[in-house]
Amino acid sequence: MKANSPMSRREALKVLGAGAVAAGLAAVTGKSFAADAAAAPAAPVAAPAGSLGWELPPLGFAYGALEPHIDARTMEIHHSKHHQAYITNAKKLLEGHPDLLAAGPEALIRDFAQVPEGIRTGIRNNAGGHVNHAFFWKVIAPDTGASIGQLGVAIAGAFGSMDEFKKQFSAAALKRFGSGWAWLAMKGGALQVLSTANQDSPLSDGAHPVIGLDVWEHAYYLHYQNRRADYVAAFWNVLNWTQAERNYHAALTG
Ligand code: MN
Repeated sequence: MKANSPMSRREALKVLGAGAVAAGLAAVTGKSFAADAAAAPAAPVAAPAGSLGWELPPLGFAYGALEPHIDARTMEIHHSKHHQAYITNAKKLLEGHPDLLAAGPEALIRDFAQVPEGIRTGIRNNAGGHVNHAFFWKVIAPDTGASIGQLGVAIAGAFGSMDEFKKQFSAAALKRFGSGWAWLAMKGGALQVLSTANQDSPLSDGAHPVIGLDVWEHAYYLHYQNRRADYVAAFWNVLNWTQAERNYHAALTG
């Protein structure tokens, strides 16, 4: 197992996670967010602060930290090879387009009209892959926080109950034929379960992702082989509710 962060951080996160659960609503307090931010490594970004650049963002935990739900080898290949390849390919496509490079990946997938037709599909796939994976690494974690914040209330309001939401989200993840993603997103002012093909992002459709799950086979095949349903069920054990809450608040204001 190759670790990309010290074990001391993992242990620190475990303590913080246990504290958040014990404190209940701590998952939505500034104190919890501050502690989480202090423990997380800073992502190197070329674009303005707060937006994604064109470098591989580090995970906030070791590759093996999500075991047994997501195995270390899958995490290592997924992060260091698959995600890196999307970035490398996108940057290659953008050679000779410094203005698009400077705009950053999120701006490009929000508005493909600015991307020349000759590289549009490539940018849709590769900048999309970059943005989706950067989002995904933050929404999974060894310490999941509590699901009882404002997002939990909003989910209960939109779907009837947390169980019903999980049922609909899981169904979207299982019904996606071939490669793609399942999402909880804010669209038109409402929380909705969505699914996208390939590396398409809800951002391209004017929606704001809150929770996302990669259901490409590369995300689970080594450990689960053809059993996507088992991988989807395991996702709930590593879903970072603290980050989802943060995404929800960003979606409300975005
Ligand atoms: Mn992936």
